[in-house]
Amino acid sequence: MTTGNETELFEKEFAAYVEAERAVAVSSCTAALELALRGLGLPPGGKVLLPAVTFCGAAQAVLHAGLQPVLVDVDPRTAMADQATVSRAARACGCPHAMMVLHYAGAPAPVTALAEAAQLPLTQVIEDAAHALGTAVGDRPVGSLSRATCFSFYATKNLPIGDGGMVTTDDPELAEGIRRARLHGMSADAWRRDMPGGSWRYTVEGPGLKANMTDVQAAVGRAQLRHLDDWQRRRHELVRRYTAALESLPGIEPLDVPTPGRHACHLYAVRVTPEYGRSRDEMSELLAERGIGTSVHFIPLHHMPYFRDTATIPPGGLPGADALFPQLLSLPLHLQLADSAVDRVCDELARLAPKPHTPL
Ligand SMILES: *Cc1c(COP(=O)(O)O)cnc(C)c1O
Repeated sequence: MTTGNETELFEKEFAAYVEAERAVAVSSCTAALELALRGLGLPPGGKVLLPAVTFCGAAQAVLHAGLQPVLVDVDPRTAMADQATVSRAARACGCPHAMMVLHYAGAPAPVTALAEAAQLPLTQVIEDAAHALGTAVGDRPVGSLSRATCFSFYATKNLPIGDGGMVTTDDPELAEGIRRARLHGMSADAWRRDMPGGSWRYTVEGPGLKANMTDVQAAVGRAQLRHLDDWQRRRHELVRRYTAALESLPGIEPLDVPTPGRHACHLYAVRVTPEYGRSRDEMSELLAERGIGTSVHFIPLHHMPYFRDTATIPPGGLPGADALFPQLLSLPLHLQLADSAVDRVCDELARLAPKPHTPL
């Protein structure tokens, strides 16, 4: 079975988990973003605000949907767009048609305030929740704060099926449109056509992708969902351990969280500031030599030739993203990480500091 009973059950259980009315399972978060954007029914070339510091797939989804990406600068303290950068980008492009909000690293982003800054109704806002399974803004779980919320089940994410994605929404028509569009735009999927009493007849009324989830993926997802609360507790423990150990290390600054709520602890991203005494690049190489793998989320979109050519960049550029990028570093954070491994990373960071900090 490709998309069948397991997928339907996974959709129901996932929707309940994030407190959304509906969920449509798809092949990836990138496909989810494209399908959600297409579902908004914007005019061709419609302008879509998205942060300059995000995964390249998010911008590709905007372009695949026939829309125009408009890059929004980020606050270097949070790595996220804020009201000032959103309103600057919105003014620069005239009137944006939609916005994609990212909950970077799993930190809650103030979705409603950002929509106001863009002068967009929440019905024209979608969320990239690839990091945000487990995030709440205030006390509302990410899943039904905007028109459509897009999750990833890629191998590194909080629910690591391997690959897969989900769109959650409270809008029944949008959900139905995405359900059709995820499988070629066909009016009834193959599963239903093959059911007893099913018919071979179907129609196609709009564009579609081949972006359905399979029942094998859904079965894995359902089993994982039962462990997610435990896994999230462990992620929080690891983050608390990092933060406590790094508090006394000048120049290694955890990112600020822009608004109250619950963090999903998907990434542990820090800024390596000049106070540390070594650059981010130098430090990540020294850590690699010691067997500690780090990463950077993300190379800003405007640093890549394709997006420099295709995306709108506000006049004055993206100084926040440019200031943040050379300092940004994600330390190891995953469920196989032992407490002792966190301690070792923090010890190496302290040892590698050219002027080791001695506690008073
Ligand atoms: C991983 C990721 C995506 C893409 O997810 P896929 O399921 O791999 O398509 C989109 N946006 C962000 C911010 C991500 O980290």
